[in-house]
Amino acid sequence: MSQAVTPHAVAPDAISDAAPDAPPDAAMRECPDCGLFQRVPVMRPGLVAECGRCGAVLRRRRRDALGTTLAFSVTGVVLLMIAAASPLLGFQLAGQATQTSLSSLPGSFQEQGYGALAWVMIATTLLAPALKLGLTIAVLAGLRTNMAPSTLAAMARWRQTLTPWAMIEVFLLGVFVAYTRLASLAVVEVGVALYALGALMLVMIAADAWLDEHALWESIGQARRSPAPVGNGPLIGCDHCGRVSRAAPGDPCPRCNATLQTRKPESIARSWALLLAAAALYIPANLYPVMTVIRFGKGAPSTILHGVEELIQYRMWPLALLVFAASIAVPVLKLASLSYLLISTQRHATGRLRDRTRLYRIVDFIGRWSMIDVFMVAVLVALVRMGIIASVTPGLGAVFFAGVVVLTMLAAFSFDPRLMWDAAGQTGCDEAEAEA
Ligand SMILES: [Zn+2]
Ligand SMILES: [Zn+2]
Repeated sequence: MSQAVTPHAVAPDAISDAAPDAPPDAAMRECPDCGLFQRVPVMRPGLVAECGRCGAVLRRRRRDALGTTLAFSVTGVVLLMIAAASPLLGFQLAGQATQTSLSSLPGSFQEQGYGALAWVMIATTLLAPALKLGLTIAVLAGLRTNMAPSTLAAMARWRQTLTPWAMIEVFLLGVFVAYTRLASLAVVEVGVALYALGALMLVMIAADAWLDEHALWESIGQARRSPAPVGNGPLIGCDHCGRVSRAAPGDPCPRCNATLQTRKPESIARSWALLLAAAALYIPANLYPVMTVIRFGKGAPSTILHGVEELIQYRMWPLALLVFAASIAVPVLKLASLSYLLISTQRHATGRLRDRTRLYRIVDFIGRWSMIDVFMVAVLVALVRMGIIASVTPGLGAVFFAGVVVLTMLAAFSFDPRLMWDAAGQTGCDEAEAEA
């Protein structure tokens, strides 16, 4: 029996231990954040099912979710093509004019000998958004045709994996910072691509908000002709499609074919390794200049912190605060928070589990926003290239900084928040207990 907590949220029933051998049904879910097995009730559109223990969103029910998402995604592809092909910003100074576009940004980094940054730009602003939109369309359109369910499932899994790397909204903030810095010293023209990107951002957010992943995976599951085999073993929730089955770790998920695992493999060791690597890169990222700005023959290399100081000098307070938050505060908070989560888990801490889980969700969410600085440098380098009159060249600090952002994102993905609940003895799935 389900019970409504608020008009907008339902609390699923926790699975009791009364029937430990009962076969799992389609309504069963394992909370991805705390590992509690629950039964998500039938919900009317507009309702959200939240984990009764940690508050994670288990399902967001939408009306005609798949059709609306398909329409948004097709619009998104058109907008991305317009954005890639048309001018982004124009720059005029001392009788000279330059122009840049989204697709020319990686080339500017490449010309300056910064191939790594060129690839970061291609991956986050072109490839990941295009693939994400393309895969969303392919899966949703494929469901209406007779596409093989295994192909549909593979595409849907790739779509999930690529989602955090599509950074259109972060890129737009980077363009905004670059624009504001330039507008104080020259004439900056806004191109068609910027409007297209703004619209693309809204469309991608809407497509994500409208997509009922639960419904998507159910449709893919229904497309399978052979019924899912009833296995035996412990209950395992699939990390990709959420289907709960009785299986041994390492078996394929009966619905999406992903390899089933009770917890993310080597979670603690991998998270620590990535976190320490990120911390090591954080030092040169702050010591080396991220770019060198030349104006009328004068200029010096500038670090991240120097960039913030400069904005304060120009009295651009909101912008200074934004860059400080994204480039300095967020990376430090991420490194500190992940270390705290890892240490508290290893020490089998039992307190503040809900708060720690919330902290993990915040760390997971904010990580990508640190790319603002890298995107700002990309726009400035591509746009301001008038030799001795005005030019911006990238610095090694930007490479290290991009490395910090990517590594902390990977560290957050590698960490399994359910281990915190295991370590506190809340799931009956502690490694030591499991081996006994
Ligand atoms: Zn939970
Ligand atoms: Zn699955």
